[in-house]
Amino acid sequence: MTWYEKLLIVLAMVLFMEVFAWATHKYVMHGWGWGWHRSHHEPREGAFERNDLYAATFAVIVIALFALGTVWEPVWWVALGITVYGAIYAFVHDMLVHQRFGLRWVPRRGYFKRLHQAHRLHHAVKGKEGGVSFGFLFAPDPVRLKRRLAERAER
Ligand SMILES: [Zn+2]
Ligand SMILES: [Zn+2]
Repeated sequence: MTWYEKLLIVLAMVLFMEVFAWATHKYVMHGWGWGWHRSHHEPREGAFERNDLYAATFAVIVIALFALGTVWEPVWWVALGITVYGAIYAFVHDMLVHQRFGLRWVPRRGYFKRLHQAHRLHHAVKGKEGGVSFGFLFAPDPVRLKRRLAERAER
């Protein structure tokens, strides 16, 4: 494989994972998988929460893909793409937005501020239903999200 084929797979996987994460969050985690995800919408006791089981599950799948990638190379780069997304997600979602592992930085402007606000608004709804902003890196405009939440609260 050439280097640009590898790079293309990694980049495509990062984009794919954002769509996959959005769909999983909206239809699985806020659907039949709510039993694990609920903990993420409640105050955390201790370092971990039940919702971390999702990350653990994905890690097992990725390790299997890396193993498969030793026999069929493209799969190895697919696994790397998922890992890159996972690393971005862990840093931005867990550390930046939820201030886990000791990071205390609240972005005041630009893309990170928008992402921060959009995800905070996802957490504005405590229950399984009626939430907004299930995606992550493609953060919708917080003003529009607030309007949508207000409309739902009126109903
Ligand atoms: Zn959620
Ligand atoms: Zn969150």
